[in-house]
Amino acid sequence: MVHVAERTKRIEPSASSVATQRARELRAEGHDIISLTQGQPDFDTPDHVLEAAIKAMHAGETRYTPVMGTPALRDAIRFKFKRDNSLAYTDDQVMASNGGKQIVYNALMSTVEPGDEVIVTAPYWVSYPEMTKFAGGVPIEVLCREESGFKLTPEQLEMAITSKTRWLILNSPNNPSGAVYSGHELRILAEVLQPYERIMVMCDDIYEHIIFEGVEMATMAEAAPFMFDRTLTLNGVSKAYAMTGWRIGIAGGPEGLIKTMSKLQNQSTGNPSSVSQAAAIAALTGPQNLVFERTKAFQRRRDRVLEMLNDVSGLSCRRPEGAFYVYPNCKGLIGRKDPNGKVMKNDHDVVIYLMEEGGVAAVHGEAYGLSPHFRLSFADSMENLEEACRRIQSAIQALA
Ligand code: PLP
Repeated sequence: MVHVAERTKRIEPSASSVATQRARELRAEGHDIISLTQGQPDFDTPDHVLEAAIKAMHAGETRYTPVMGTPALRDAIRFKFKRDNSLAYTDDQVMASNGGKQIVYNALMSTVEPGDEVIVTAPYWVSYPEMTKFAGGVPIEVLCREESGFKLTPEQLEMAITSKTRWLILNSPNNPSGAVYSGHELRILAEVLQPYERIMVMCDDIYEHIIFEGVEMATMAEAAPFMFDRTLTLNGVSKAYAMTGWRIGIAGGPEGLIKTMSKLQNQSTGNPSSVSQAAAIAALTGPQNLVFERTKAFQRRRDRVLEMLNDVSGLSCRRPEGAFYVYPNCKGLIGRKDPNGKVMKNDHDVVIYLMEEGGVAAVHGEAYGLSPHFRLSFADSMENLEEACRRIQSAIQALA
């Protein structure tokens, strides 16, 4: 028997990976499944980014680099934060990691003491509470209801704060709800936090560029400059530039925090891939028009999926303002029976039914901390999305 450390028992595997794997297995058994479980663009990495990577390989950029990223990448990160967010970081205040995920991990592992509390807003990206637990902390889940646009209110924040609070994690545009905080809303939350000097904010802006018409992007350190020294601004190339496999995440934050995160990264993974760093420079500093075109495509898909799902009796779906997920409410299906007489008791049952009987894989809302919902990614072709929605429509019609 292999001994596994106690701390590994505190964490669960990612629900979206589990659902993706289940869809793969069913497909391998010959079932026709459309999988809308994954959080990645269906587009390819832009050509100019590929070319920068090839050029870097041929130029011998194939060796270890500084742990925090090459000077050229750190310049590109600073350029990006200035261009997009009006944030002026120094060279010691930025770093690159192996994906945005490692930024979150580095930050929590560098700061959370046993028993420290981390406020996460449900629905949340599944890794925040798991990493908090791994770091020995306690995730404090605040339910951000659909009625308040899936957003944290200042009253809820005030109620959640204790003497043990170490972080507030905000994610906008949000995975899975698509909610986006305005600069004004962020400033009001910042005013609540202002007197509590030990609380830091992690602002996860990884979906920043996937933001729909009429919605404006804001981030905490920009909206509330008095929080600049207490905010870690997280971003990356995965979602905006269709580069999930390249594994580059970026961050800007207080020098002391960045230095500690870098020390941890040095002793765990070392630098992110040198070739990926060269590619990330091209993505961050090169032409941005493709990002806008792709976002328009995401918007057309969002609109079509919304139209089709909101037509289904028993489902209601709020319009996401950013990212590439819908998070339909399936309260109207709970208590109904499938053709075999099985009652839908919760969103997990709904998702299993949609996968096994409808042929569409989704992720149940409970995994994101807010039920009864499920998450569908619309980072897929219009054809697949329409077919998936038709299947959902007819599967749900078959419920008694
Ligand atoms: N933050 C959020 C909200 C995400 O949804 C993801 C990926 O799914 C990440 C961070 C991490 O992205 P990556 O590690 O691919 O850069």
